[in-house]
Amino acid sequence: MKKRRKRLILLLAIILLLIGGGFLVVKLLPNNTQEKESQTENSPNPQTESTPTPQIEDSSTSQTQEDKVLKEKLAKLENINEKIDYFNMDYLDRYLAYLEKNPTMDKKDIVTRVNIGLDYDYYTHTKTTPYQNKIYILSNKYISMGDYVPNDLEKVSSSCSTGTRLMVKEARVAFENMCNKAKSDGYTIRAMSTYRSYEYQVGLYQRYVDQDGVEEADTYSARPGFSEHQTGLVADIDNGSTVYTQFHTTKEYQWMKDNAYKYGFIERYPKGKENITGYTYESWHYRYVGKEIATYIHEHNITFDEYYVQFIEGKK
Ligand SMILES: [Zn+2]
Repeated sequence: MKKRRKRLILLLAIILLLIGGGFLVVKLLPNNTQEKESQTENSPNPQTESTPTPQIEDSSTSQTQEDKVLKEKLAKLENINEKIDYFNMDYLDRYLAYLEKNPTMDKKDIVTRVNIGLDYDYYTHTKTTPYQNKIYILSNKYISMGDYVPNDLEKVSSSCSTGTRLMVKEARVAFENMCNKAKSDGYTIRAMSTYRSYEYQVGLYQRYVDQDGVEEADTYSARPGFSEHQTGLVADIDNGSTVYTQFHTTKEYQWMKDNAYKYGFIERYPKGKENITGYTYESWHYRYVGKEIATYIHEHNITFDEYYVQFIEGKK
């Protein structure tokens, strides 16, 4: 009997334990799932709370990042954009690329040269001039005139020219005044090549290409539509005794250096500026730009290409 009771007690104890354990499991389980649920409930919270935050942070960060990059780029250019009004933000990366190739160049010159287009090869990225019939029209290897014919072409006085030479009226009058003053000072100046039509340049350029090839011809002759002679504002001059290619050796050349600007003319392709004008030195080629521009160019020893991008382009 004692054994049976003992067994019974043991069995009861086991049953109680089992039941108690079961309760415990049942009791604990919901807690666990609750915890798990609350964890999963909680876990999206930090996500939903934190997701928009990084998004806001992301865009503001990238904004400040952009600002930072821009500031760094402008700093490389010594913040020249704050000092000159012809700085073009669209060209920023071109300025930086040009600076990398020309690390010692003045930052103002970097901007000027890229604005001219000098970071591109000649005759690539060309534009058509918006300034037909203006005395400040620029013609170079980046600006085409198309086949435009200027208004007011007039014949230069035979006492100041060889053969029949045409120039735009304003330039023609100025040229004759200059020629007459030179004469009274004891110098001879003759216009030996002035206005040249688009069609004429087609033939001329082709002759040079046939003779020397495109690369060589491009160094001394303009392609059709790109010759400044087409503006009617140009005179190639000589002194009547020395071949024009040697004009720089004449006393007339010195006279022109000292006086041409007073009549609105500039030496268009000066020595030492070949990399800016894109042309070899032409001591005989003069361009009418009016007294104001000519005086500025004379006083600052710059080219018309530089003057144009600094003072004219996009402004009139
Ligand atoms: Zn010329």
